[in-house]
Amino acid sequence: MTHKVVLIPGDGIGPEIAEATRRVLEATGVPFEWNVQQAGQAMLAQYGTPLPDSVLEAIRQTGVALKGPITTPVGTGFRSVNVALRQTLNLYANVRPAKHYPGVRSRYEGIDLVIVRENTEDLYAGIEFEVGTPAQRAIIETIASESGKRIPDDAGISIKYLSAAGSRRIVQWAFEYARDNGRKKVTAVHKANIMKYSDGLFLQVAREVASQHPNIQFEDVIVDNMCMQLVQKPERYDVLVLPNLYGDIVSDLCAGLVGGLGIMPGANVGEHGAVFEPVHGSAPKYAGLNKANPMAMMLTGVLMLRYLKETEAADRLEAAIASVIAEGKYVTYDMKPPELEHTAVGTSEVADAVIARL
Ligand code: NAD
Repeated sequence: MTHKVVLIPGDGIGPEIAEATRRVLEATGVPFEWNVQQAGQAMLAQYGTPLPDSVLEAIRQTGVALKGPITTPVGTGFRSVNVALRQTLNLYANVRPAKHYPGVRSRYEGIDLVIVRENTEDLYAGIEFEVGTPAQRAIIETIASESGKRIPDDAGISIKYLSAAGSRRIVQWAFEYARDNGRKKVTAVHKANIMKYSDGLFLQVAREVASQHPNIQFEDVIVDNMCMQLVQKPERYDVLVLPNLYGDIVSDLCAGLVGGLGIMPGANVGEHGAVFEPVHGSAPKYAGLNKANPMAMMLTGVLMLRYLKETEAADRLEAAIASVIAEGKYVTYDMKPPELEHTAVGTSEVADAVIARL
């Protein structure tokens, strides 16, 4: 069966790594029909938005998209296209496997963690109030009268919320993922000792969901302690489930444990579709240089193949990537030891090497 997939190359290094990934996916023999769509800064002038409706409509139709990174201007300009996509399509589960492949330079070996991050709520919901605006002043007055605590007049405000329903569906998703993938333990990560009504609710709901899954171990860990535990004893953990902000930060920490952003894949999954994208950003300084590591996006392609139930092709592609990594010859600069950096190959040569092993 031909899989119809929306391909969003993105910007920065996106187009190069997306092309490398499209090539290896096609080389597996799985038939794809790509619907190439553009999003980001370049669309702003033409459509007045970095995320044209046509892109969303295309994803609604296919139910599956493979996406390269998209630059978000810092502080000013448009809001993140990446966040908007996840929210608009209600892709509430962000899955980021952090697996160590032999041959990757890393302080740790044998790590095989999966981060399940809630993707729609929390400080990332985009509910913000700028200093000096009528809305900011109104919020300050309301909070003062409701809580007796006064936020300084010169404060910018970002709202954090976690709902019971949002927490339940993500923890449920983490347990189902654990069950379907032969995982043994789910760890809920929170700061419920300080944020009793948001993180506290998340933890309460997590415990309820855990009680319905007696065959999978459950524990909870406070987020700061979690960061230390992951650095000291990462092998103790299996599936982690976290609210949005902690999930974002802890998954970069886990990327560091397994060898860096250059090999960390990701998926955003909802009830009606999924957008697959590497964890890393658009690395603008390497754009157009055929230098960036395409492996995170290729491993993202592996996740997509699994979602499409192309398990045999997924296993083959993952094994081919692992073999290129283990050999260490046809890899990009970030995977070479500093003294051998001059022997690094480019993005497209990595794709050639992977294809040769398929
Ligand atoms: P980044 O991930 O682009 O870069 C962080 C570091 O990792 C840099 O040193 C970069 O050169 C390196 N790096 C990243 N990917 C690499 C790869 N494939 N191969 C080799 N080296 C790689 O993060 P940043 O610099 O914080 O963000 C740059 C832009 O990307 C920002 O505009 C940000 O908003 C955006 N971003 C987008 C996404 C997304 O599209 N989902 C995710 C994160 C950041």
